[in-house]
Amino acid sequence: MVSRVIPVDPFDLVIFGGTGDLARRKILPGLFRRFIAGQMPAGARIIAAARTEMDDDGYREMIAEAITEFGGLKNIPEDKLTAFLAQLSYVTIDAKGTDGWAALQELMKGTDRVEAYYFSVSPALFGDLAERLQQWGMADKDARIVVEKPFGRDLETAKTLNATLATYFDESQIYRIDHYLGKETVQNLMAVRFGNMLFEPLWNAQYVDHIQITVAETVGVGGRGEYYDKSGAMRDMVQNHLMQLLCLIAMEPPARFDPDAVRDEKLKVIRALDPVLPHHIARGQYDAEPGNAEAQPNYRDAVGDPRSKTESFIALKTHISNWRWAGTPFYLRTGKRMSARSSEITVVFKETPHSIFAEDAGRHRNVLSIRLQPNEGITLGVTIKEPGPGGMRLIDVPLDMSFAEALGEDTEQVDAYERLIMDVIRGNQTLFMRGDEVEAAWAWTDPIIQGWEARGEVPKFYDSGSDGTVESGELMRRDGRAWREVSP
Ligand code: NAP
Repeated sequence: MVSRVIPVDPFDLVIFGGTGDLARRKILPGLFRRFIAGQMPAGARIIAAARTEMDDDGYREMIAEAITEFGGLKNIPEDKLTAFLAQLSYVTIDAKGTDGWAALQELMKGTDRVEAYYFSVSPALFGDLAERLQQWGMADKDARIVVEKPFGRDLETAKTLNATLATYFDESQIYRIDHYLGKETVQNLMAVRFGNMLFEPLWNAQYVDHIQITVAETVGVGGRGEYYDKSGAMRDMVQNHLMQLLCLIAMEPPARFDPDAVRDEKLKVIRALDPVLPHHIARGQYDAEPGNAEAQPNYRDAVGDPRSKTESFIALKTHISNWRWAGTPFYLRTGKRMSARSSEITVVFKETPHSIFAEDAGRHRNVLSIRLQPNEGITLGVTIKEPGPGGMRLIDVPLDMSFAEALGEDTEQVDAYERLIMDVIRGNQTLFMRGDEVEAAWAWTDPIIQGWEARGEVPKFYDSGSDGTVESGELMRRDGRAWREVSP
């Protein structure tokens, strides 16, 4: 089965921070893949902008290398690469000064096409860029801006940033990226919930025992130590990515699949989240791997602060106070240097109310697990009879649907960034966070962080290559439950 590619209209995309890590690793290789897929029209222009002095050819060379390194393509068709690079240009610009703005204005003059400005720079520059786009006449009502994470570091800074952007742009022009929302399975989550009759009637506290969301990484903080240490897992992952997954799994069915209908429902979930009690939080910092201390530094060495209190792991339990979910715990867990790279949402259903099988002493639960990465797919655990003689003994087996297997090798795999950029061009905000959503997420997050800061809590250590702290396991055990194994 091959997916249909609908070309978008010609557009101009300006990428501020076009020489940066994100642009080279994700944005430009993603655009190239869209170009190969036939989705990027010939007339589209991609204009990169940053302070480094460079001409168009120098930039094209940089991006040709980036596509070779990060494009994920076995063979790069030379003719396509040449044609794609011809659509790129480069402007030397300073977001904080006047250099380069006249040149960019000249390039953007008089086009009546979609104009998108991607802020792939430090958030400290978002306000400067918005202001200058207006000063130089580029913030017209048709312009769109794409804003990267992190969007603030608490409620106050997020409000300030929202207010700054709102001075120059309408909310309908602002695309706040959370790349988790661009993942195929995340959208499939909505398709599974709202496109099937099977699940929705069971999707509530009466039938669901609990829900787990795990985003596990094997990497440490790497070269981002200084940035990460000011942030930590709660700000870096829970406030945005895990929160978005929680919203999609818990929200009410929107009346339509349109941006505001979906985002209204997500917002209601965030606003219904209970505060998190101190003993429902387990924070950790990774230690070296047992027997392999030389291989990777521990967290504190990696960030260069022997007294750091920032968490590289967090597990917590929360509740959603509404009719659908009252009484059903949601367990969230994310961390670095864990045993495997895996993102998974698991819905654990309740046991049957009564077992009619005398020989069977087991506890059986249907478990629906939605894997985001790697191997995107869905598994439904069902209970069946153990084959052979021996009476009605029951076992749990998975009904496994790997999307790659089920849909065939030819199915086009579209990276989250590719999809989201094309959505910006199409003007579809469904998979982007609205300003009030971001603020509501911080309003829930802030007191949790302030709580552990006020209590002076220090994260517990966990071994690299393990699945987090002992206390994280305790959090589940106390409730008579267990985390799903983190498997690649
Ligand atoms: P980066 O590698 O540090 O790149 C920053 C870019 O901004 C460079 O192109 C830099 O180029 C440009 N820049 C810096 N100061 C400037 C100024 N005054 N005027 C114009 N351009 C300026 O950062 P990044 O990793 O690409 O991240 C970009 C954004 O994406 C950040 O908000 C980050 O939080 C977010 N993000 C990144 C990733 C990732 O995987 N990298 C993932 C999620 C979110 P010059 O030095 O040439 O000016």
